[in-house]
Amino acid sequence: KQTIKDLLTDYKKVLHHDITVYGWVRAFRSNRFIALNDGSTINNLQVVVDFENFDENIIKNINTAASLKVTGEVVESQGAGQTVELIAKKITILGDNFTEELQSTILQPKKHSLEKLREQAHLRFRTNLFGAVFRVRSAVSFAIHQYFNQNQFFYINTPIVTGADAEGAGEMFGVTNFDLNNIPRNEEGEIDYTQDFFGRKTNLTVSGQLEGETAAMGLGRIYTFGPTFRAENSNTTRHLAEFWMIEPEVAFNNLEDNIDLAEDFLKYVINYCLENCKDDLEFLDKRFEEEQKTKPEKERAKEGLIEKLQNVVAKRFKRVSYTEAIDILLNSKENKKGKFAYPIEAWGADLQSEHERFLVEKHFESPVVLFDYPKDIKAFYMKLNEDNKTVAAMDVLFPGIGEIIGGSEREARLDVLKQKMEEMHVDEHELWWYLDTRKFGSVPHAGFGLGLERLVLFVTGMTNIRDVIPFPRTPKSAEF
Ligand code: ATP
Ligand code: MG
Ligand code: MG
Ligand code: MG
Repeated sequence: KQTIKDLLTDYKKVLHHDITVYGWVRAFRSNRFIALNDGSTINNLQVVVDFENFDENIIKNINTAASLKVTGEVVESQGAGQTVELIAKKITILGDNFTEELQSTILQPKKHSLEKLREQAHLRFRTNLFGAVFRVRSAVSFAIHQYFNQNQFFYINTPIVTGADAEGAGEMFGVTNFDLNNIPRNEEGEIDYTQDFFGRKTNLTVSGQLEGETAAMGLGRIYTFGPTFRAENSNTTRHLAEFWMIEPEVAFNNLEDNIDLAEDFLKYVINYCLENCKDDLEFLDKRFEEEQKTKPEKERAKEGLIEKLQNVVAKRFKRVSYTEAIDILLNSKENKKGKFAYPIEAWGADLQSEHERFLVEKHFESPVVLFDYPKDIKAFYMKLNEDNKTVAAMDVLFPGIGEIIGGSEREARLDVLKQKMEEMHVDEHELWWYLDTRKFGSVPHAGFGLGLERLVLFVTGMTNIRDVIPFPRTPKSAEF
């Protein structure tokens, strides 16, 4: 079967032939022109209906959102902006509409707010905007696999149900088969996990990194790409409770190799989209431009969406140490005048997204890689630097997003790692298997985590992370 995209891109082969296409009605103008879309492309196929040749009942039932099978002749189009159209000879209505109910859905052709569209996430796929967003999301995912495949990485699946808390942050959803009305407890009143997941306390993974490291210790270069869960009750436009994370891990890499990898990787994926998602990006670019017009002058983006993507791949990312960044922030007008919600007081402060965005959007006007963070604000597994104060961590910060990637060179020395775990109250016994990687041929190694949705936000120019994942899971929504 031919998709509408196939037809529109390669119509010369079938010009003046009869073909059959399938799709949903986006609009039916003057009882004569159907805009038909099958999801394969942002562009609709114009189907011309010659009234006299059709049963009145069929014409009557060609409503917005109905699904059709259409056979007709491909002809060159006279209309502006389209190459071909289909002169319909036979139309079959596959599924018509419950017209009354349609009125209250987002399929009703008018402008709906993103909030309203979110309430009907199951129907969003039919809209131009979400068609474009999810095609781009698919392209991003595909490009990610392609990049790693071309660079001899192996795709590893790490567990979704796990006993490990990689971040030590306690932001985990427990996994249980307890009868919630009758949770077994011991004499002290504590939950008795021996009666739960085959005798173990388990949770949904917050990161596949620790398991990924063990795989890299045998396979050299690996990456994970899987669902990740964080019970963070943060209602921001950048956080989801369920998101997809990509985590490469590479044996024999140090921090600088890791930063090089992150930069090369991000640029590859963005370039892939520029080359392979032209129509969708042009559509999103226009939408982005329209959206800018509704904002106060000061808040408007300086460049268009496509322009922004082109600029990001063209230049080398700025590489800045945490210490330098803190100096810049401390000396900034914004900090001195109390413009930040969380003013920076001294070296050692954790950076909030307002600070990250200041560095990227105002100060450097470029993506920024920050490295060598204070050890106290980063996880236990990061390599301790010689100064004994910082770790070999790196975050990639993007305009409009803030942190898009977080990574580090890992602590490869068993004694230093154990010391760090003790200081940070990470249970050595629970991670006995992880410590093994430092016992038998430990090597320097490094990796990072990229949140798929944050990259899709960046590429599509959308502003709320709920609008780049088909079914968002947030504290306020787990409806579908
Ligand atoms: P943030 O500071 O934004 O909360 P993080 O430092 O907690 O992020 P990491 O643990 O470093 O996140 O995870 C690696 C990457 O996963 C992040 O750089 C980000 O792209 C993504 N990510 C983290 N938490 C979320 C979330 N709740 N929803 C979507 N993506 C996330
Ligand atoms: Mg976080
Ligand atoms: Mg962070
Ligand atoms: Mg991070």
